[in-house]
Amino acid sequence: MPVLRGDEVWSKIQSSLQENLSKPSYETWIRPAKFLSLKDGQLTLRAPNPFSSNYLKKNYSNTIEELCKEIYGEPVKVEFQSLEEDSEVTLSSNLGSNSSPQSPVSETPRTKHVKDSKNKPPSLNRKYVFNRFVVGPNSRMAHAAAMAVAESPGREFNPLYICGGVGLGKTHLMQAIGHYRLEIDPGAKVMYVSTEKFTNDLILAIRKGEMEAFRNRYRAADLILVDDIQFIEGKEFTQEEFFHTFNALHEVGRQIVLTSDRPPNQISRLQERLVSRFSMGLIADIQAPDLETRMAILQKKAEQERMRLPRDLIQFIAGRFTSNIRELEGAFTRAIAFSSITGLPMNVESVAPMLDPSGKGVEVTPKQVIDKISEVFDVTPEEMMSSSRRRPVSQARQVGMYLMRHGTDLSLPRIGEAFGGKDHTTVIYAIEQVEKKLSSDPEMASQVQRVKDLLQIDSRKRR
Ligand code: ADP
Ligand code: MG
Repeated sequence: MPVLRGDEVWSKIQSSLQENLSKPSYETWIRPAKFLSLKDGQLTLRAPNPFSSNYLKKNYSNTIEELCKEIYGEPVKVEFQSLEEDSEVTLSSNLGSNSSPQSPVSETPRTKHVKDSKNKPPSLNRKYVFNRFVVGPNSRMAHAAAMAVAESPGREFNPLYICGGVGLGKTHLMQAIGHYRLEIDPGAKVMYVSTEKFTNDLILAIRKGEMEAFRNRYRAADLILVDDIQFIEGKEFTQEEFFHTFNALHEVGRQIVLTSDRPPNQISRLQERLVSRFSMGLIADIQAPDLETRMAILQKKAEQERMRLPRDLIQFIAGRFTSNIRELEGAFTRAIAFSSITGLPMNVESVAPMLDPSGKGVEVTPKQVIDKISEVFDVTPEEMMSSSRRRPVSQARQVGMYLMRHGTDLSLPRIGEAFGGKDHTTVIYAIEQVEKKLSSDPEMASQVQRVKDLLQIDSRKRR
């Protein structure tokens, strides 16, 4: 007969794992998992987020079950729940069946929506809500318009046409409108479809002779979200039907939201009358986010995953992925997984080679670092090489050493050489100083950021 309480069993399992796992793995995955229950041969643990819960399930189930048997004396199955799954149930419960948690790097959920049954409410990705959308100068207008449309649909901006490149948040913003609308008015008929699905539905309806049902379905929407409308290009019949759907909804003041990778007049083989319909509301574009916005996105993501990442790592990742937020998120997730699997600490040094397998040294040369520092800190390269201890000079030199450490392959002695033959202990000291100041001195942090930004631009030009 087992004598330990369930929570005691879990803390013994944790202790044993702590001894056997690397510190980051333990800290990232095991320590945050909380005991919920142990009964009927099942141990239930709570992970801080769905991502962790999936990760634990995949990588630690067996080990935990074995340890549990050893400690508890009976075979036990382990189950993981996650906080977010619990807390977001209310929001997703009226949104159809496809709201299962997804890994953070999931693809555009378009294909997941295809199997929705006809009369169900839309299946929106529950992650695509406004409070997970980081607004930057690149998306301010589109965001404001999206909020306005959710708050008072069918008014000024009808249709709202959101356009921008791949992975910049169009689908996210569009679905956020749907979520928010449903929050304000739970009875609203919100419909989300990809253009592909609209087309497929139409073909199916024709084949089955169910055009009336098709029309009734689409024309019942209070708010219709049609994603990636550029795919209607060249599809004459779909354009025809969509034109009628559009008019039927628009005439009675229902809100239409469209997304596309380009403005209406740049979609070739799009009927003129559709170009003019699409342009009659508001065309709001989303641009690629600047460095600061990219960092804010990663920061937010880290908070959501309840992970702590050093600021310079966030800066590093944000500096590498400039034009597609999906890729930026992917890199972030890989960094977490990589560090956990290898046991290496979550810092720039260990993560860099994984994010940039071609070698981080190829992109930035010591000379470029020195030139850019010189520009931003207004100190000449000669001064940095000299042994001057004037504050502006030594500060610039220290930042230079720090950036070389993080931006190139150079060893500490080589970095010392690049600055006129300084000792490697001087380099270490410099790096530590800069690291310290980065968190306490915002002006310095922003100067360093500017240099990083400049180097990033240069390296992109050279590719
Ligand atoms: P698009 O539809 O433009 O190709 P998505 O809306 O699918 O792009 O966005 C790609 C990924 O990036 C999604 O996971 C989304 O949540 C995320 N994302 C995009 N923009 C932002 C933002 N401003 N803030 C937070 N996450 C964002
Ligand atoms: Mg999309």
